[in-house]
Amino acid sequence: MQGSLIKEKLLINDQWVDTESTHKIYNKYTGELFSTISLANQEIVNKAIESAVFAYKNVEFTPEERYSVLMKAAEILNNRLDEIAEIISIEAGKPIKDARVEVNRSINTLKISADEAKKLVGQIIPNYNVPDRFIYTIKKPIGVVAAITPFNFPLNLVVHKVGPSLAAGNPVIIKPASDTPITTIKLCEILKEAGVPKGYVQCVVGSGSTIGEQLLKDKRIAHYTFTGSPNIGKHIQNTIGLRKATLELGSNSATIVHYDANLDNAAKKLAKMSFANAGQICISVQRIFVHESVKDKFLEKFLHEVSLLKVGDPLESNTDVGPMIKESEAKRIEEWVNEAVNQGAVVLTGAKRAGSIYYPTVLTNVKKGMKVVDEEAFAPVVSVTSYSDIDEAIKMVNDSKYGLQAGIYTSNLELSYKIPYLLEVGGVIINDTSSFRVDQMPYGGVKESGIGKEGPEFAIQELVNTVTVVVNLEK
Ligand code: NAP
Repeated sequence: MQGSLIKEKLLINDQWVDTESTHKIYNKYTGELFSTISLANQEIVNKAIESAVFAYKNVEFTPEERYSVLMKAAEILNNRLDEIAEIISIEAGKPIKDARVEVNRSINTLKISADEAKKLVGQIIPNYNVPDRFIYTIKKPIGVVAAITPFNFPLNLVVHKVGPSLAAGNPVIIKPASDTPITTIKLCEILKEAGVPKGYVQCVVGSGSTIGEQLLKDKRIAHYTFTGSPNIGKHIQNTIGLRKATLELGSNSATIVHYDANLDNAAKKLAKMSFANAGQICISVQRIFVHESVKDKFLEKFLHEVSLLKVGDPLESNTDVGPMIKESEAKRIEEWVNEAVNQGAVVLTGAKRAGSIYYPTVLTNVKKGMKVVDEEAFAPVVSVTSYSDIDEAIKMVNDSKYGLQAGIYTSNLELSYKIPYLLEVGGVIINDTSSFRVDQMPYGGVKESGIGKEGPEFAIQELVNTVTVVVNLEK
């Protein structure tokens, strides 16, 4: 597929806007030019904010209309599934089978967001001590939302912000990752066709350090919903003062394989989820802790499963692992692995690079202090470490500045019940990897993995103001 030869435009105040500057988007596997897009400038960003504020104050968008627009968008996206999956595969380097899963998930995220538009209700507050006062709450849209999004799920993570924002009745300005803006423009086309009111969805493309900063500093924006790296997340929190932010950040997620686990299932699924999207998933498995009594058996099965993964062109239907987003990222992880090896880590497979492809890499003999252990790798690299008792494994999982999700394979019911209380993470996955997610579940981490939850039912609560109403019934 060649991208549109026509330069893509920005959606500002319901108009497709061209600017003088052009941003080039490349095919992440071949390196060829794929498409071009207008870059926003200060004036365009200002115009987007101005029209979003105008829409918020003046353009009615009822819950029934929000529901209809989001359901219609889901239908149009379904009709354009093949086209959009191909764009994701090319601009993000994601294997096409996974890109199709992402589009299907996004259709679902739009539908469950639509449902939330109709379910947004306040509460009656029981009042037994001052009987002549009737107290209840209402939920009001919070105001203009800025959605700042990463490259690794260029559709579904945008929908996770736009869906709940619209369901709550908020205008939203999207700032997609500079590497993957074309998918967002297609989403904007779909939302416009679905009938989103003027000013309720806008898209500004440009670098985080320029237009991203402008969005952060503009006090007309009421809420920031950000998914990306912990450093930028911290910067956002430090810049916006008392305004609110939902921050979905990174992790070095762990999965435990206990001695009573189904090793075949664990090996198969861990091989898939340590390397899916070339490890560029925030809940990608980065650290595996396996009980010492089953370590050799597990490793044999796991390395076999890893050897079956097909690495290469993301547009081929049987590719499992494609390129990383940039060659510089592949070089970064190559350095991290080399550094770990110099400090005593042992390579069981991989540790090879060809351009922006980094081959699935399994390490053992790793220790704290190595970047591949302590930092978020965000690359196809996983380490396997043994433990002698479960308390030791729990301690190693928790010995991290991050806490997004963790997995455990075990057939022990009591341990399955207890371990969610002991692990310092936002989600515990029993008999699956840390990398499991469906879009309706609450999702978000603790520690440096972020603040707030996504999943439309939960995200929407961050996107409304709860107003308490007290009615004096005294005559
Ligand atoms: P990133 O470098 O932090 O970028 C994310 C977004 O922030 C991009 O749109 C980026 O724009 C923008 N940005 C950069 N500097 C900014 C600034 N000063 N002000 C405002 N915006 C700014 O992250 P990424 O490399 O795209 O994505 C990878 C990270 O996302 C990983 O850490 C991963 O764990 C995390 N992630 C977390 C979740 C989750 O749900 N917890 C899900 C997916 C990914 P530019 O592209 O123009 O730089």
